[in-house]
This record gives sequence, structure tokens and C-alpha cells, in this order.
Amino acid sequence: MVLHVCFRYLARSPRLFLPTSTRSRSVVFQEEKYPVFRQQRYLSSSLRKMTDSKKLACEAIERENSALRALSLDIWDHPELCFNEKHAHAAVTDFLEQRGFQVERHFKLDTAFRATASSKDTDADTPTIGVMCEYDALPGIGHACGHNLIAIMGVSIALGIKEALEQGGVKGKLVVLGCPAEEGGGGKIDLINAGAYDDMDCAIMGHPSQFNLSRPVYVGMCPMSITYKGKASHASSFPWDGVNALDAAVLCYQNVSCMRQHMRPTWRVHGVITHGGEKPNIIPQRSELLYYTRAPTVEELEELKSKVKDCVEGAAKATGCSVEYKFGANAYAPLLSNDILATLYEKNGQNLGIEFENDPTRLSKQGGSTDMGNVSQILPSIHPKYSINTMVAAHTTDFRDKARTEESHDLTLIHSKAMALAAIDVCNDPPLVAQMQAELKQRQHPSARR
Ligand SMILES: [Zn+2]
Ligand SMILES: [Zn+2]
Repeated sequence: MVLHVCFRYLARSPRLFLPTSTRSRSVVFQEEKYPVFRQQRYLSSSLRKMTDSKKLACEAIERENSALRALSLDIWDHPELCFNEKHAHAAVTDFLEQRGFQVERHFKLDTAFRATASSKDTDADTPTIGVMCEYDALPGIGHACGHNLIAIMGVSIALGIKEALEQGGVKGKLVVLGCPAEEGGGGKIDLINAGAYDDMDCAIMGHPSQFNLSRPVYVGMCPMSITYKGKASHASSFPWDGVNALDAAVLCYQNVSCMRQHMRPTWRVHGVITHGGEKPNIIPQRSELLYYTRAPTVEELEELKSKVKDCVEGAAKATGCSVEYKFGANAYAPLLSNDILATLYEKNGQNLGIEFENDPTRLSKQGGSTDMGNVSQILPSIHPKYSINTMVAAHTTDFRDKARTEESHDLTLIHSKAMALAAIDVCNDPPLVAQMQAELKQRQHPSARR
């Protein structure tokens, strides 16, 4: 029995038991082993089985393959931080305008845009599909979250839908929204507050990853900034006259660490001390910390925030410092993947040869947080993760380099097609909009109801 278990473990984890010199080979083996899509099946039979409008959508995306690749590389080569995505904003809006979209640059925010297209005939029941683009990078490590791929995925989905609306007899309206600052700035939250989502019936985007997950777990996230104020004094001559703000920061960090034992497994708190004093011979009079708190529901996030607040205040009391703290206005809500929309994406994806993840551990694996979570609380939405054939996580330089490869590009286009086809299904069946909204009403947080 014991032997049996060992062999099963060995079979699943071959690289753990290999000598160091062969480990890199085993990683390659693992990557190749992961089934991403059956290209042969896609090439040979998928297009033949499709309706004409879907076929037109796929062909429209494929026609722009090399231009989309150039756009992706251009964005990758010019990484820009949140709310400063000027190069990407210009590149994507120029691309869309050249292809017949009505483009509004600097829409509500300096680096946001809105691009629209529509079928000739529309009426009150005609669905409006929202498609999101992101294009911001990370400090120091560039496009390590692969938002160059997210940008062209939004453009590709839009190209496919537009062709079906204009040439395929499908009735629908399309809004492409360029969303700045996903990495911490919450651009979509500002856009929601400015009314940018008011005319959409659903919202679609995707994110590169290690796995094909149509309903990934994205938790809610709220940043918290903390400032302790004490009193400066000579650290050698008159230390008793000082009040040490660095001590307060250190105690706060330790209080939170002690509290961790009582956190639910799905909660996360991570923090850094961003200012701790000026010189060792001056008792620090000011210290600052920045924390991210995360939990899978709005209620649990509130509970966690309240516990962290106690840790922060306790450290002030113990050291005699005063404290000011604030929770970020642009907190990220947990992602609600609309089941109807996710199922349409899966079905169309499977027809294109995409194999979706079915390993329960990977299905429930907790990811990060996204401002698409806030969109998903007010509109039926999907934000699937899709594999770019790597076992490396995002926010690493390896993932950044993977996001530049031709393989990642090809996989992005396949998933873009699946999402464009799901949108065409919604346009062809307008009562689906009411059904998706009924599902949302049941699941959204009461504070998100409009
Ligand atoms: Zn990221
Ligand atoms: Zn990202």
C-alpha cells in the first residue's frame, strides 16, 4: 500500500526526484505535457462546423494576425505604469480607428478610450456587448502580467464581433473600453463611477495564466495606508524625550503577524514598511506602512479589515504614538463569473479545441485581485484565465518573457475567438441578457445593486 502511494506520487512529480542537471529538461517536459488546445482539430474541422457569422468572426481575427502581433510587441516594448499608458493608448486607439471603429480617445480618464461599432439595424432589445482592454505594466519588471496580450485580446474580440455585426447579419452593439491602471490604480472603478459601463449589457475580457479556467477565483482586495507620528529626540543623549514611530510600525507588523494564526485560509494580509525614520541617531518621529488585505467575499473582507484596524491602533497605544490610517477608495471586489456567459465561452472554446481545466485543486486555486471584480458586481461578466503554456506564475520576469512569445500570441487569438463567438451567441439570443442579469441579481453584493 505504501509502495503504491509512493509510485503514484513519483508519477505525478517526476522533477522532484531527478538530479539537478536534468531538472530543466523535466520542466520543459511538464510544459509540453499540459494540454492547451488541439490545433489540428481546430484547423481541420472547427470552421466547417460553424455558422457563417461565427466563421466570419474567426476569419476577421485571423486576417489581422500579424498586425495584432505587431501591436502586442509594441506595447510589450513600451511598458508604462498605471494611468500613464500614453504609448499604449495611442497605439490601440490608432489600430481600432484604422479598422473602422468610432473611437473616443481620453474617454473619462487620460489614458482610457471608448470604441464602438454596431449592426445597421438595432432596436430596444439589441444587446450591447462590452469588451475590456488593459495595457498597464508593473514597476521594474515590465509586462510581467501579460497586459500586452490582454490589450490585443480585447482588440481581437472586438474585430470578430464587429465583422459578425457588419457582414454576418448579427444584430448587436459593441463597446470596447480601454481600461488603465489595473495594477493597483483601479481604473475600471473610476470608469464605473463616471458612468462608462452604463450602456453595456455584459462585459468580457480574459487574462493570460498557467491554466484554462473559465471561472477563476479572484478575491476582493483593499489597500490600507498607515502613518504613525511620534517625537524626534537625540537617540543617545535624550532618548527618554522621544516617542519612537518606527517601534509603532514594527509592533503593528508583529500584531498583524500574530493575528495571522486566526485568519481563514482564504484571507491574505501583506504589508511593507515604506518609511522607518531618517538616521539611527534620531528617534524616528514618523513611520509609514502599506498593507493589502484580501478575502473572497465583501463581508469577510470587512471582518478582516476590522481585525487589522485593531492591530494598527494597538501599536499606537503601546508606543504612545498617534496614528492615521485610511483604506483605499478603489478597493477591488471579488470576481463573479457569470455562469451563463462562462458556459457560452466554454462551449465555443471547446469547439475550437480548447481543453478547460478540471483538476479541483486548480479550479479552486486562489488568484490575485482585479478591478474587473467591481465590473462583475454590476454587469454579467467573464474574466477567464487562459494558459499561455507555461507553469510560471504572473508577476515574474519569466512570465514577462513568455508573454512576448509567438506561442502566447497564438493562444491569445484562439481564446479571443472563443469569447467573440460567445458574444455572438448573446446577440443572437437577446433574452439571454435578462437571464444573465437575473443570475447577477441573485449573486451580487447588495451594495452593488443599481
Ligand atoms: Zn497583475
Ligand atoms: Zn494582470
